[in-house]
Amino acid sequence: MGIQRLYILGSTGSIGVNTLDVAARHPGRFEIYALSAYSRIEQLARQACTTRARVVIVPDDAARGRFLAAWPGGPLPEIRQGAQALAETAADLEVDIVMAAIVGAAGLPGALAAARAGKRVLLANKEALVAAGALFMQAVHENGAELLPIDSEHNAIFQCLPRPPGRAGAPGDPAPGVRRLLLTASGGPFRQTALDRLDSVTPDQACAHPTWQMGRKISVDSATMLNKGLEVIEAHWLFAMPAERIDVLIHPQSMVHSMVEYEDGSVLAQLGQPDMRTPIAYGLGFPERIDSGVGLLDLARLGHLDFEEPDLRRFPCLRLSFEALGAGQGACIVLNAANEIAVDGFLHGRIRYTQIPDVIGRCLDDFGTQTTSHPGSLDDIMGLDARTRSVATQFCATSR
Ligand code: NAD
Ligand code: MG
Repeated sequence: MGIQRLYILGSTGSIGVNTLDVAARHPGRFEIYALSAYSRIEQLARQACTTRARVVIVPDDAARGRFLAAWPGGPLPEIRQGAQALAETAADLEVDIVMAAIVGAAGLPGALAAARAGKRVLLANKEALVAAGALFMQAVHENGAELLPIDSEHNAIFQCLPRPPGRAGAPGDPAPGVRRLLLTASGGPFRQTALDRLDSVTPDQACAHPTWQMGRKISVDSATMLNKGLEVIEAHWLFAMPAERIDVLIHPQSMVHSMVEYEDGSVLAQLGQPDMRTPIAYGLGFPERIDSGVGLLDLARLGHLDFEEPDLRRFPCLRLSFEALGAGQGACIVLNAANEIAVDGFLHGRIRYTQIPDVIGRCLDDFGTQTTSHPGSLDDIMGLDARTRSVATQFCATSR
């Protein structure tokens, strides 16, 4: 196999950095073609220099200036600018693999462009599927893209599903003989916190995840379990599974990454250390298994694996997510956008932790019939996303 050229959207984030780590372990196999970043431009300059990336994408003029000022030396990459260039780069002929690792619905246009260009798409950006499941999956199928889920749960399920030999595997086919998908969740840092203390938890406490090291937004989502709700919606689209056949199970050790239950009673699970380099390596190397740098799983030392049902009083965001999936595409867009604003508000001290579900719930109510609509185009989706953000921002401003 020839060299595979990568475009990493969001290379300075937690997934982006882990992707560079895995790729660097296989210098004869992967080359970095392009990298994009939004705020940590100095880190982007160091990454581009080390990997000899040919193209970088920055958001604006100011970021271009910062990139040039931080450039350590050597031949400069081509610097492209703005959201449109970020999406268009996915279609460059040189690109073989696109890692979609931007956080939030902001990652949707780039991920969609990669699918439309028929690339191998490694999808970490779950919000893209939550906001635009039907449109995104249609783009994958119509353009012969190869979609490999990177979210650890979906990667685990993908590994546990039957795949006809010789076929590259297309999440989206209803899998024969599958009864249920079981998504595991750690329960986050507040799994056992007294319910009356949740009102006063701080952003740093919410981001101190017990088992995973991740960006701040997804860390808060893991604490509220809105993250698991997004993942239920993500699983629905990836694996063509109705909501009532997707269950959530709390598993505090985060070693079983998810499971597939079959009609004959068999349950297949994928286990491993909670380290995103495993699913990233699976996506990069598929169908081969390649070194990820992740250590062994020592089950004897661990001794036991625990499981429990999630408590919906503790995790109202999980209930809201199931309701949104039941209501329709519009509700999923509102759920996701309201959550992004609420989490940002919490991280910046504008609202309390317990107000995150309030803001989401109020937005879902406020948008009424729009929640049962099915916006079909990227413009319509981004339009509802933007309207939700402005309503959610007002709710945050009047909440505290
Ligand atoms: P992060 O906050 O660490 O990094 C986000 C990246 O996106 C950064 O490179 C940032 O520059 C870029 N970015 C942010 N806003 C942008 C915008 N408006 N336009 C363009 N680029 C922008 O996030 P992360 O934890 O790496 O998560 C990335 C995605 O992967 C999320 O969708 C998350 O849900 C998913 N994911 C992450 C993990 C994990 O372990 N971190 C696990 C599963 C799924
Ligand atoms: Mg996950």
